Amino acid sequence: MESATVQEEIEVQNPATGETIASVPVDSTDSVAATVARVRANQPAWEELGFKGRREWLNKLRDWLLDNSDRIADTLKSETGKVRAEATLETPYLADQINFYGSKAEKFIGEQKIRPNSPLSASRKLRLRYSPYPVVGLISPWNFPLVLSLGDAIPALMAGAAVVMKPSEVTPLGLSEIVTAWQEEIGGPDVLAVVNGGAEAATALIDHSDFMGFTGSDVTGKKVMARAAETLTPVSLELGGKDPMVVLEGANLERAANAAAWGGMLNSGQMCISVERIYVEDGAYEEFVRKLKDKVDELSQGADADVVACDVGAMTMESQLAKVETQVDEAVKAGATVLVGGKRGEGPGQFYEPTVLIDVEPGMSVLDDETFGPVVTVTRVANEDEAIFRANDSRYGLSASVFGPRGRAEKAARRIEAGAVNVNDMIFNMLVPSLPMGGWKESGIGYRNGEYGIRKYCRSSAIVSPRLMTKSEPLWYPYTPSRQELVGKLTSFISGRGKRRFGK
Ligand code: NAD
Repeated sequence: MESATVQEEIEVQNPATGETIASVPVDSTDSVAATVARVRANQPAWEELGFKGRREWLNKLRDWLLDNSDRIADTLKSETGKVRAEATLETPYLADQINFYGSKAEKFIGEQKIRPNSPLSASRKLRLRYSPYPVVGLISPWNFPLVLSLGDAIPALMAGAAVVMKPSEVTPLGLSEIVTAWQEEIGGPDVLAVVNGGAEAATALIDHSDFMGFTGSDVTGKKVMARAAETLTPVSLELGGKDPMVVLEGANLERAANAAAWGGMLNSGQMCISVERIYVEDGAYEEFVRKLKDKVDELSQGADADVVACDVGAMTMESQLAKVETQVDEAVKAGATVLVGGKRGEGPGQFYEPTVLIDVEPGMSVLDDETFGPVVTVTRVANEDEAIFRANDSRYGLSASVFGPRGRAEKAARRIEAGAVNVNDMIFNMLVPSLPMGGWKESGIGYRNGEYGIRKYCRSSAIVSPRLMTKSEPLWYPYTPSRQELVGKLTSFISGRGKRRFGK
């Protein structure tokens, strides 16, 4: 392995205890370029392995992940401040991705026969071929350090690309541990690498990659797209959200309140698809709010040790904690009411109490902007139309949920402007690799998962060859009046679907 040029070090802290747990060297622009060049040189041999060969390597990675899931959960827990129950969620997701793309990649991107659409195209054999972008760069955030980096690398690797990942500078440890294992314990081909750092390393990765996958905030996503435009590098952007939940009269309010508490507080609300805004029809409002308040009140918060003990963990970044605090404080000053929580939790770590707000109004940033913390707002609405209008009244459109009688809720779901809507359910779409996941509006461009989640890493080429090997073709030289007449008659007949008489 080439060693990175060390410019400075990143100090990684445990947000649940405040302790410094490791330091990681930052990659310079040159070392990012060198890493990309190194895996680029190894990519053709990786592509040459074919679907079966690549699947075999990824299955070894899957087995390693499953064998080492406790060790990885420990690392994730200490660098993110997650509770143990949530730190253990990432490896099964990765194993599922490997199984899904391992079995489906050939179907999705194997060479395809294309059916001719007319007698003219039937004169040729038509094929569509997918070739991977040689190097896929992935830039990821800190809230799910593996799912949002290695999870996206799996389809790219199955497609035959080499991958360089840049994790968030806040949570670089878990991913590096896995890539080191791929290189040293599994002995995998050198087509999967990590570079570390912040904006400078990320920018270098955009400059040198052939495809850029980005997950993070909409503010940074716009910078990524602008930078990638300089080299016309294609991007997919998985950005922020402000997910609405709609509760209709007649909903199972016990299930809805449990779902709201989990969907709002899971990972301390630091999820792009957290429930942040809840709109409840008048007749269901009082009971729903009472149930939600009780359920959130019962949640335990703290730093887990080796066994599962707490429901809600720490906030991974102090700056994010301060943002949540400001949004809630400003809303309260402007008239919002705190039903539960509403302030920082006790240290030494970085905690914000699970919080439920009512009496919120548009114009409050807690209702208009992404919060990304353990805070939900509940608003009473007159009817379904108002609920849908308010749910859609956002610059984001990542995902949503609707709770209500099945038929009505299913119908309402189809009116919501979002990349996914869970009906009487919460966040489940994220666990189904065959379903595409992506945002509308400022929540992103492109999708992860499903067929598109691997095709996006490929360029397509059309391969065409004639069925009959004649000396020449009617369309070729020389142009003569008699040939032109024949071509005209044929195209008129074919284009008119045979309804125009031959020769007219
Ligand atoms: P962020 O945008 O601050 O950072 C994301 C990544 O971008 C980090 O690795 C960071 O180092 C890098 N970066 C910083 N400056 C850059 C630049 N100029 N050019 C390129 N990259 C740069 O986001 P974050 O705080 O790490 O994560 C939280 C955000 O991510 C939230 O908005 C959340 O909704 C979003 N998110 C989206 C999804 C999704 O799937 N849609 C999933 C998780 C998180």
